[in-house]
Amino acid sequence: MKTPVPDYLLEIRDACSVGDDGELADYIPELASVDPNRFAVAICTMDGVVYTAGDAGARFTIQSMSKPFIYALALRDRGIKAVLEKVGVEPSGDAFNEISLEPETGRPENPMINIGAITTHTLVGDPDADEIERDRVVAEGLSAFAGRDLEVDITVFDSELRTAFRNRAMANLLRAGGIIEGDPDEAVRGYTRQCAYNVTVRDLAVMAVTLANGGINPVTRERVVSAEVARQVLAVMTTCGMYDAAGDWMSTVGIPAKSGVSGGILGALPGQVGLGVFSPRLDGHGHSVEGVRTFERLSRDLELHLMNTTFTDVEAVRSVRHDERTGRQVYRLQGPMTFASAELVLRRLAEIPAGSGEVTLDLSRVSSVNTSARRILVEGMSRLSADGHVVGLADPSGRL
Ligand code: GLU
Repeated sequence: MKTPVPDYLLEIRDACSVGDDGELADYIPELASVDPNRFAVAICTMDGVVYTAGDAGARFTIQSMSKPFIYALALRDRGIKAVLEKVGVEPSGDAFNEISLEPETGRPENPMINIGAITTHTLVGDPDADEIERDRVVAEGLSAFAGRDLEVDITVFDSELRTAFRNRAMANLLRAGGIIEGDPDEAVRGYTRQCAYNVTVRDLAVMAVTLANGGINPVTRERVVSAEVARQVLAVMTTCGMYDAAGDWMSTVGIPAKSGVSGGILGALPGQVGLGVFSPRLDGHGHSVEGVRTFERLSRDLELHLMNTTFTDVEAVRSVRHDERTGRQVYRLQGPMTFASAELVLRRLAEIPAGSGEVTLDLSRVSSVNTSARRILVEGMSRLSADGHVVGLADPSGRL
């Protein structure tokens, strides 16, 4: 049997074509001259399998889709607290190039708009890193997310830099307010270079799935950032990733995402999937027209909305075996242990009357245990023991 996913993606490509709706970005010749009819889509699974359809080999610059990953590197290198002192996490509802700072703090409102992204760029690497060193950390970091060595499109970089008047104004404002340290021109050069890395939809899907997978790239198995950093980035993508269309996007598509002016959109659904789409015609918000349609379609067809409820905890206790002769009871648990499923397990354990029998928790079929569930289960075991039971544990994979 052949998996139906590639056929489904081909179908999506045809269904989401919008003809000549939308406009190419035209602020630099390199973006204005791309073939407007190109289209590609990629899905990367949590175990690192990538499916593509369309012009999957098409290369385009990452542009604003670099912002979440540079934010991740800044969080990794400086810590969440230090980064928050310089850049907030509030959706601004503004366009990507709005010159907006929080009145009370002077900070940019979030790292997904240019003024915030220029700031986070300066927070990558060691505080005393020079421009070359910072660019090296950026190159290594973006490449680790993609699972291959990414390279800068020098022509796009040069062109962008020649016309980066507005970004330069922002960097100067940030410098005057003490939000960035060092040379504002250096910050703009670095930010512009980070936007000029060439990627494919496959790269976008792998980069996105690395965030969806708690910071581990499932293709290379490298831990790129901590689970805490990945969560922070996804949270900010959820509220701020689609600029002034963020609310609409979350309600209709419901996938934490980031778009770029080159026509790419990447999306990361925690614990499920990474997505990348490319089609260069843009709508009024600067998002790819066919890209948005493709995401809407994927979200609907594959039920990828973040707010969909998945009921995984009803069967948390798979079975209870009670040996009348020995009085031994074995509770076989299954699935992922979260607060919800562990609470359910404990409610079942609470039904056991105090006594001296043996109670064993069998975790052989448990797929994961998060910190909260671990605390709850351990507490349950110590309470059973305080009630007089001999408590056993079968945990061959060491989940607890
Ligand atoms: N290089 C572009 C800029 O900073 C990126 C914009 C975008 O992709 O939205 O102006």
